[in-house]
Amino acid sequence: MPLQTKTLACTSCGASLEIKNALKAKVLVCQHCGAQLDLTDPQYAVIGRALKDAAPPRSSLRLGMEGTFQGEKYQIIGRVRYREDPWFWDEWLLMTEEGRYKWLTEGEEEITLWESFTPTEPTNPRGLEEGDTIRPEGRTARVKEVGRARIDYVEGELTWKARLGETISYLDARENGGKYSIEWSEKEIEFYKGRQLSYSEVMGAFGQAEATAVAPPPSPGRKGSSLSCVSIVVIIVILLVIVFLCVACSIISPSVGAGPSTGGYYRGPSVRIGSPSGRTSTGGGFTGGK
Ligand SMILES: [Zn+2]
Repeated sequence: MPLQTKTLACTSCGASLEIKNALKAKVLVCQHCGAQLDLTDPQYAVIGRALKDAAPPRSSLRLGMEGTFQGEKYQIIGRVRYREDPWFWDEWLLMTEEGRYKWLTEGEEEITLWESFTPTEPTNPRGLEEGDTIRPEGRTARVKEVGRARIDYVEGELTWKARLGETISYLDARENGGKYSIEWSEKEIEFYKGRQLSYSEVMGAFGQAEATAVAPPPSPGRKGSSLSCVSIVVIIVILLVIVFLCVACSIISPSVGAGPSTGGYYRGPSVRIGSPSGRTSTGGGFTGGK
């Protein structure tokens, strides 16, 4: 079925704008004045204003670029910039000529291609923590990151009513070779599964020479990189504890064997980060598929 396009006049500046997939688009940002138009409203009410160039892309990805992933042609039609200080990342909306969507999340260290899906098991992400497990498709995936990010910038055409300043909760989980992401607000939950790609793969898919890929800015993005910062801190703390224990042991060691009550080893409680694994919340509605 061919896509249904539609032309309309910007509610704010009057410029002529085109919707690429009129049946699915919920928000359109005017490329001239930045007005964010609510397409679900018959009057196309302005629900925000994205200041032009307020969020420069972090690579050579741009709206309008066309690329091929897994043999299918996509065009970049929208972008949402998320911020979770001090980190930020872009989510690019890709659409095929038939109107199928994928998302490309671009952080500092990772680019992931996501598609939405409906989980086979009810999964309620609320209250889950790092280390917990979920089974959205019957296989156990471990929660790697949980956070809350603010929408800093939007452009193009989007399939959901993203509002500037709105906050979205998210959770990223991994199982062997696969990634899951759940994003939710008060009203909606969306489920995605993803595949990690390299920068050169992505730029190649969009017909860009690898050399044009701009070196990512020095702040980490979502999907693993903020986790790695936390990990580094945890590792440093663990190393310090080990060094401390070694020093303590070497001081105490002469007393080892002096009697059962003065064992030279102190066996501390095992440190557990996060909550017990294996807990999978169930229940709760979902509206999989954008
Ligand atoms: Zn306008």
